Amino acid sequence: MRILVTGGAGFIGSHLCERLLNEGNEVICLDNFFTGRKANVAHLFDNRRFELVRHDVTEPILLEVDQIYNLACPASPIHYQFNPVKTVKTSVMGMINMLGMAKRVKARILQASTSEVYGDPLIHPQTEEYWGNVNPIGPRSCYDEGKRVAETLMMDYHRQNDVDTRIVRIFNTYGERMMEDDGRVVSNFVVQALRGEPLTIYGDGSQTRSFCYASDLVDGIIRLMNTEAEGIHLPVNIGNPGEFTMNELADEVGKATGKQIEIKHLPLPQDDPKQRKPNIERAQKLLGWEPKVPLAEGLKKTVEYFRASIGNSASA
Ligand code: NAD
Ligand code: UDP
Repeated sequence: MRILVTGGAGFIGSHLCERLLNEGNEVICLDNFFTGRKANVAHLFDNRRFELVRHDVTEPILLEVDQIYNLACPASPIHYQFNPVKTVKTSVMGMINMLGMAKRVKARILQASTSEVYGDPLIHPQTEEYWGNVNPIGPRSCYDEGKRVAETLMMDYHRQNDVDTRIVRIFNTYGERMMEDDGRVVSNFVVQALRGEPLTIYGDGSQTRSFCYASDLVDGIIRLMNTEAEGIHLPVNIGNPGEFTMNELADEVGKATGKQIEIKHLPLPQDDPKQRKPNIERAQKLLGWEPKVPLAEGLKKTVEYFRASIGNSASA
């Protein structure tokens, strides 16, 4: 198949491009390099089935493809809040452009949605039926509401135009090729620990997240794209139900790096969700999927990556 991956030069996108090529597909990686880097996909340049296109999804583009994975969107709070209007445009106009392409060429399309559509969730763990608790006017809204509109567009193009759609709600994912300065908690803690700096815990550290290793996530979204089943157009949570407080995560990073950990408390950002954990029964039932890599194991691999890469800041 010929497969388009938007945001393909980013953290998750680069792992996805690699897997799709390994499975024998042609891959077009499209990216505007806002938070992605050529270095993330440089090892794929020698493969004749791989193409890299510099393009912004907010602008239309004509391509002929069989499948579209729409990942283009900054994912870290500091990146998506850098230019919030652009973040909304990327999610909404980008989604419309990609759905237009899917409709024109009859491609199947998968949207990378997020657990952020549940906002600061009032039910726990989160099931796909939960409508969420999102502040529509806060600093996280450009991301959360942008992704919610993108889901709306997916469902409406499906119902109105019969586009073959898949929506994955991705929970916090980590692994090799995260940017060392992107501000997300796993990369922050690992890089701080390796540099012998105190780990910055926001608030009292009692808030929870559930961390999925990149290879498990990629496996889940490829399965979702290629599964046909009753109700498959509805959103599916993909994440690791192992839930950790930020204090517990700091301890885990201490173990994975072998470093003595010091903690520095900083203010909790506005609207920071207090708890988050996926209910993955739908993914288990429809896709036969569940995560395989526990946090301790995934952190070890992530630590090895950052140990080798920090300081080199591969920005090319
Ligand atoms: P990332 O920032 O590493 O990757 C995003 C990629 O999209 C980058 O390569 C960036 O340059 C590109 N991009 C951004 N705006 C673009 C635009 N207008 N046109 C073209 N390309 C553009 O982030 P990631 O963690 O790899 O996330 C990938 C996708 O998964 C995102 O859609 C994100 O919202 C979603 N997601 C990620 C997580 C996570 O924990 N990593 C959780 C939930 C959802
Ligand atoms: N966080 C933290 N220290 C950091 C970065 C983040 O304590 O250096 C906290 C943040 O407040 C949040 C959690 O870690 O409660 C996850 O943050 P991240 O930005 O990785 O993801 P998101 O909030 O989007 O789930």
